[in-house]
Amino acid sequence: MRVRGLTGGLAAALVMSFALLDGPAAVAAPSAGTATPVVAARVLTYDASGAAEFKSAVDRGAAIWNESVDAVELRPVASGQRADIRVLADDGWPRAVPGPLGTGTVYMGRQAVDQGYYTIRIAAHELGHMLGLPDRKPGPCSSLMSGASAGTACTNPYPNAGEQAEVEENFEGARTGALM
Ligand SMILES: [Zn+2]
Repeated sequence: MRVRGLTGGLAAALVMSFALLDGPAAVAAPSAGTATPVVAARVLTYDASGAAEFKSAVDRGAAIWNESVDAVELRPVASGQRADIRVLADDGWPRAVPGPLGTGTVYMGRQAVDQGYYTIRIAAHELGHMLGLPDRKPGPCSSLMSGASAGTACTNPYPNAGEQAEVEENFEGARTGALM
């Protein structure tokens, strides 16, 4: 540890402040000069190679979640690797088949798109199910999980504050569990 080179009193104070500020996870913090906790987001990979014409909408939906929450990050899977989340296009209604938290299959159904629903909102909504959120129908356009109940005029692809907080909590909880 770098603190070894410091005077005893200062080193002790640094160690103590780490313990107070950051808890057990910070023991592995690489720099003694940084008080900011270094805790990585849980990375979930997704494979949109089967999403056909919706691939860019899926990428945008994932990027919106990455902008909106800190505890989890959606990343395109490397080719040849198995993804946590698989995204497919089909002619049915859009839907999600979740597995354990952070895994499952999303169907970008053309039926809703044909009726005029917005593809990026659909993608972000279905990815929301992968992140542990339930449907909140009927609901307003400001809610991502109100889904189609907000009508075809609703193009909001962003989770509201409550939905963001719920996802943070889902993955903060999972992270704490993994450490203990
Ligand atoms: Zn839904």
